[in-house]
Amino acid sequence: MRTRRPLPPAALPTALSIVACAILGLWLMFGWGGPSVVRLVDSVGLAVFAVYAAVCAVAAARSAHGRQRKTWAIMAAGLTAWAGGELTWAFYELVLGRSPYPSPADVLYVAASLLILTAMVQFPRAQSAHSRLRNVVDALIVAVALLALMWVLLLDGLYEANRGDAIALTLALLYPLLDIAMIVVAVLNASASRRGQRIVLLLLAAAAALMALSDMVFAYLNVTDDYATGALVDVGWAVSLTLFGAAALLSRQPASTPPLGRDDVPTWASVWVPYAPLLIAGTVGPAAVLTGPLQIGVPILMVLVVVRQSLSAWQNKRLLEAAAERALRDPLTGLANGPLFFDRLTHAMALRGRDGRSVAVVSLDLDDFKLVNDTLGHHAADSLLAATGERIAECIRPGDTAARIDGDAFALLLEDRTENSHAIAARRLLDAFRRPFVVDGQDMFIHPSIGTAVASPTEPDVDAALLLRRADSAMRTAKHSRSVQVCVFDTATMTSPRESPERLAAAPVPRPSEGAARIRLLGELRQDIDRRALQVVYQPKIDLGTGHLAGVEALLRWPHAHLGTLHPDTFLPLVRQHGLMRPVTDLVIAQSLDDVARWARQGIRLPVAINLFAPSLRDTDLPDTLCAALQQRGLTPELLTVEITEDLVLSEVSTVTTVLQRLRQLGIRIAIDDFGSGYSALSYLRDLPIDEIKLDRHFIAHVTTNPKAAAVVEAVINLTHTLDITVVAEGVEDAETATWLTDHRCDVAQGYLYGRPTTADDIPGFIDVPSATHIAVQSRS
Ligand code: C2E
Ligand code: CA
Ligand code: CA
Repeated sequence: MRTRRPLPPAALPTALSIVACAILGLWLMFGWGGPSVVRLVDSVGLAVFAVYAAVCAVAAARSAHGRQRKTWAIMAAGLTAWAGGELTWAFYELVLGRSPYPSPADVLYVAASLLILTAMVQFPRAQSAHSRLRNVVDALIVAVALLALMWVLLLDGLYEANRGDAIALTLALLYPLLDIAMIVVAVLNASASRRGQRIVLLLLAAAAALMALSDMVFAYLNVTDDYATGALVDVGWAVSLTLFGAAALLSRQPASTPPLGRDDVPTWASVWVPYAPLLIAGTVGPAAVLTGPLQIGVPILMVLVVVRQSLSAWQNKRLLEAAAERALRDPLTGLANGPLFFDRLTHAMALRGRDGRSVAVVSLDLDDFKLVNDTLGHHAADSLLAATGERIAECIRPGDTAARIDGDAFALLLEDRTENSHAIAARRLLDAFRRPFVVDGQDMFIHPSIGTAVASPTEPDVDAALLLRRADSAMRTAKHSRSVQVCVFDTATMTSPRESPERLAAAPVPRPSEGAARIRLLGELRQDIDRRALQVVYQPKIDLGTGHLAGVEALLRWPHAHLGTLHPDTFLPLVRQHGLMRPVTDLVIAQSLDDVARWARQGIRLPVAINLFAPSLRDTDLPDTLCAALQQRGLTPELLTVEITEDLVLSEVSTVTTVLQRLRQLGIRIAIDDFGSGYSALSYLRDLPIDEIKLDRHFIAHVTTNPKAAAVVEAVINLTHTLDITVVAEGVEDAETATWLTDHRCDVAQGYLYGRPTTADDIPGFIDVPSATHIAVQSRS
């Protein structure tokens, strides 16, 4: 939906004065009210037009600064002098009933021409050396062409008419020369106008040229004695003055900055404007003075030369435009490049207050691009970028800008009245990435992280750079959080997202042959995490005192479409390296608590233990997230145990203590997993709030055969009991081990002996049935 821009303030007065021109034209044409009325209307009318133009110039001067201000002031003086000249002329003609030549009116007219000319020269123009040279040549072409034309049509007659009177002759020759100078300057201004002030300069050029042309026609008609006040040519002046006024009013609006890279491309005006006088002079002149075949031949030749010149100028312009365009495009994707994007963004931000639209930036970054680059090489990475560019281009509307900023970072610029265009665009982008990319002959799912930021018209202090930074920061938040793929920058809630260290650590580079398969697996993993297609299974934990089910441990499985059910060791490294830990943990929390709630509804109160990734414990939101998840399902906190691994605790005791203490306060149990497998430190048994330790299965496996292992386990059991910590033995596979553990007062056991990890539906089958092995163990002891 495009908005209608409000009319510029110059529109109404300009429209009115165009209507006035038309009325004047009709009046003069039809001679309403007889000759004397026509003369009055004409003279006073033109003076009013001149006063109007002068007032506009004063307004322009008042709102301009520096040199522009002076220039418009001079212009205002010139237009006022013109009005004075017109009134003086009218006074002589209408009141005194005579029209002397030369008269005081001429002094004012000449002053007007000189002042307007001075102002015109002052308007800024392009400065580069080659365009200055071109300007000089253009000026010479126009001046010589007009002089030649003038010589043929006018000067001869003027000379004859004023031969006796030196002053009259000088004046008669001065007018056309001033007019030529005026047209030359107008042409120079028009051809050198840059995009920002283009319209103003073109209007001024047209106004000055029309004024000079009207002067010339007037002089010509005078020589041929065809002029009388009220002749139709006078409308030329009225239109010229209207154009001066419009230019002055338009100059008061803030100039838009020219689009990037186009500064050196000549404007259309500069291509054809200098040739127009040449064409007229080169055809009309020879036709007037030559005879025979030359009378037609020379003008035709002239037209051909001008056509030829215009063609090559046009070609030149096209080439320059193409070069400018190329300099602003990303060669790989064909999208805009960074500088062009920033330029358009700056432009949109500047205009946003004016037309009430909001500006949105969508920042997009590919998630595993570095991996593709490192493992499949630059060629594959480039083709992935090109394909990404195509997908992104499919998602935008005609007025939007899509750019590759650098590497695998892309950005969209959206201008809209509605503030949710960025959300729609983000959704479209996500959809576009749901189809696999074909890279190196393989289908791969590539995931983008997307951040958006909006600047509404009511936030004037947000500039382009800030908006871009916001979108980038939202994108990085999306990238690090991983539970969401799109993040919206919200001034109220967003703090600068922290870099997560495991994302910064370089991923180990797999062997090239593995690369493609690995990236592909990663893509599928991401998809299945998004689709919540990962599954949680449960392994029973048996109370060795009673033989009853004491709880379950939630363990993750990935049912893969082609590879069968995958165990954590095959895919958890990908999860760790590619920042997928958060969504995976969220998924496990949700599924396992849902199951606990379901069992509770069946009357089975069964605690669950979930495994946490080490970095989760740096997440200060974790305790509240868990608490909320429990509350949502009406579960009490002691139904949940989090298992953390020893090595984490060792390296980051101080950082994680706060989180652990908070979990403890909330009533969530904490277990140390794989106890004894790492470099154990007894200090954290003392310092950390721990409810349970799980003895690593490599220890447990040898308790019946290795006296040293048995001694260590026995010591640990005794120690932890003193500290009021529960001991769980992991990996119990045979009855001997179970007996040994029971004899040594181990609290809980877990292992294939009691049950392999199984689905939630099978778990109720373990309830209230003391396990057969327990009975066996009891009867033996
Ligand atoms: P873990 O936490 O030590 O989990 C116990 C692992 O030992 C499980 O392997 C389980 O199937 C296996 N196991 C159980 N009883 C026996 C036994 O008697 N003998 C033998 N040899 N193995 C037994 P699984 O399910 O393959 O999980 C491997 C590891 O993956 C887990 O070790 C845990 O560190 C991690 N993991 C599993 N699920 C999750 C999860 O949801 N989140 C996180 N962060 N890690 C998980
Ligand atoms: Ca565990
Ligand atoms: Ca374990």
